[in-house]
Amino acid sequence: MSSVSAFVNTLIRPEILALSAYHVPACADMIKLDAMENPYLVPPPLRDEIAAVVADAHINRYPDPDPRSLKQKIRELLALPEGMAVLLGNGSDELIQLLALALNKPGAVLLSVEPSFVMYKMIATFVGMRYVGVPLRTDFSLDLQATLAAIHMNQPALVFLAYPNNPTGNLFSREDICQIIEASPGLVVIDEAYYAFANDSFVPDLAIYPNLLVMRTFSKLGMAGLRLGFIAGSALWLDQLEKLRLPYNVGVLPQRVAETLLDHHAVLLEQAEHIKQDRKLLYQQLSSLVEVYPSEANFLLFRVAHASEVFAALKQHGVLIKNLNGGHPMLTDCLRVTVGTPDENEQFIAALRACLQCTVE
Ligand SMILES: *Cc1c(COP(=O)(O)O)cnc(C)c1O
Repeated sequence: MSSVSAFVNTLIRPEILALSAYHVPACADMIKLDAMENPYLVPPPLRDEIAAVVADAHINRYPDPDPRSLKQKIRELLALPEGMAVLLGNGSDELIQLLALALNKPGAVLLSVEPSFVMYKMIATFVGMRYVGVPLRTDFSLDLQATLAAIHMNQPALVFLAYPNNPTGNLFSREDICQIIEASPGLVVIDEAYYAFANDSFVPDLAIYPNLLVMRTFSKLGMAGLRLGFIAGSALWLDQLEKLRLPYNVGVLPQRVAETLLDHHAVLLEQAEHIKQDRKLLYQQLSSLVEVYPSEANFLLFRVAHASEVFAALKQHGVLIKNLNGGHPMLTDCLRVTVGTPDENEQFIAALRACLQCTVE
């Protein structure tokens, strides 16, 4: 009789066998600055309100497949005009997958820039879609000519641009993005995961471009544990995508809790404002030690000699950040730190100082 691994190795698609699983490191008792989470819980009165909402939730029933009042709150938040709709996902990762599934005709191309959010490429692989990654310039700005040339050559059905970009933290030029949308024969999705930390959005442009959708998530705004993302755009696009959405992709509890939190969106935005202020200070402190890149998000990318050793030494000091060294060639010796509480940021800087001293030789 054959072994399990013989079955697995003959039956699973070879491109899946070749993947390594997305690695989430253990972090018990660590200062966790690796995943762009908001370091703050919601304030106590709001926590009580959430507790009451959860206590009353009908978890014996399937979730509402079309939670209108939650969608209406999101519409109001974005000031979406008539004809525009909202599609909810179990985090925006699920929505990237849904878009790829919907647009993956035989030979279709998914295009993005590099380095950027790794899930664009991974999900292209998951669904068997051809992926094209156009390198950014060395300062991580868009290489407009190269991107337009790649669009011309590959005619991508789907383009993803993260605005601000992850893991580099910068906002691309709005004018460049407009040219890319205009030159694209396919759908362009602007991924605004970090909208709360930046000062621009493509939501108003939805009314201008027929091939534009905007994707957001509440993960980086203090609700990473809820898993809730959405796409905003023309109902003509979203009606098609709705057909592919699994009927109960967003659970009863995330729906109810998100709706409650959106009633207090100002509280969350206030936390984001604090994080932006703390980002400024962290940037100054970091730039006296290493080469830091400007950021419009809730994290900072920096470059340091012997990055992997520095990363490991920080971990020894109880501080977990993200090691990007060894991934994309443009990220050689790069590390990424999420802005935490002022106390966490201080401990990170102190640990980094200590680590730089011992990795100097
Ligand atoms: C974090 C992140 C996401 C994924 O967010 P989830 O809603 O938690 O799945 C999407 N895009 C970018 C650019 C991100 O950094």
